[in-house]
Amino acid sequence: MGKVISVSNQKGGVGKTTTTVNVAAFIAGRGRRVLIIDIDPQANAGYGVGVKADEAGRTIYEVLVGTISIKEAVVTTSVPDLYLIPSNIHLAGAQMDLLDMEGKEYILREAIRDIKNNYDYIFIDCPPSLGILTLNSLAAADSVMIPLQCEYYALEGLNQLLRIIAMVQENLNRGLAIEGVVLTMYDSRTNLSQQVVSDVRDYFGDKVFKTIIPRNVRLSEAPSFGKPIGHYDRASIGSITYENLAEEVLKNG
Ligand code: ATP
Ligand code: MG
Repeated sequence: MGKVISVSNQKGGVGKTTTTVNVAAFIAGRGRRVLIIDIDPQANAGYGVGVKADEAGRTIYEVLVGTISIKEAVVTTSVPDLYLIPSNIHLAGAQMDLLDMEGKEYILREAIRDIKNNYDYIFIDCPPSLGILTLNSLAAADSVMIPLQCEYYALEGLNQLLRIIAMVQENLNRGLAIEGVVLTMYDSRTNLSQQVVSDVRDYFGDKVFKTIIPRNVRLSEAPSFGKPIGHYDRASIGSITYENLAEEVLKNG
């Protein structure tokens, strides 16, 4: 039975997609079957794994509104053993469609049930909001991974996210665990980054991954080549650290 991990933070640009793509790709590199589900209307995850935005209408949008089955939406990527269910901009409208549906928080969970056995890991790349799409992902997940950017406002908005997670644990998904907090875009030259690391470790204790992802330009270049970092520049610090992070996720079981 595959483990479903939601990569969530309602803050924009904190490294959700970069973390999803690269952790998923390294785990696939270990011979596990891995699926990324992109539920962000910005549809960024596809770039990182060499999948162009789907024009054929086979995206997570059609799955959620029930016009295709989840199996029909799965595509292969530039990485062996790594699969993707793409998103596209139509998903922005789906949020309205979903609000009228019965059991609207469980639509993704129900869909994933049909394919959970086909993968070892399923990562869900969330949009930067706490709307119905993120709720669907938290309701469907076994655990949530929270990327936090090492910047001044890193902890701002975090209480809101933790409240939503607690609400989901109480009402929608008792089994939802916190996989861990990932510190991203760390800059060792600044005191600020170091301060954020120590604040976050004080707050979350052992729920913070040991691996810290530094700011590394190679990570931001890789998606324009349609490759995860391990295939784009294996020797870069971004690659080394994301591989270590993937190891930690594997160790968590
Ligand atoms: P959104 O909320 O819009 O979905 P996100 O949380 O998914 O954003 P990313 O898209 O992963 O964030 O990252 C935001 C930008 O920062 C991207 O341009 C990405 O390439 C870049 N980036 C992410 N992590 C790093 C890093 N460690 N070093 C340098 N650039 C990074
Ligand atoms: Mg993103």
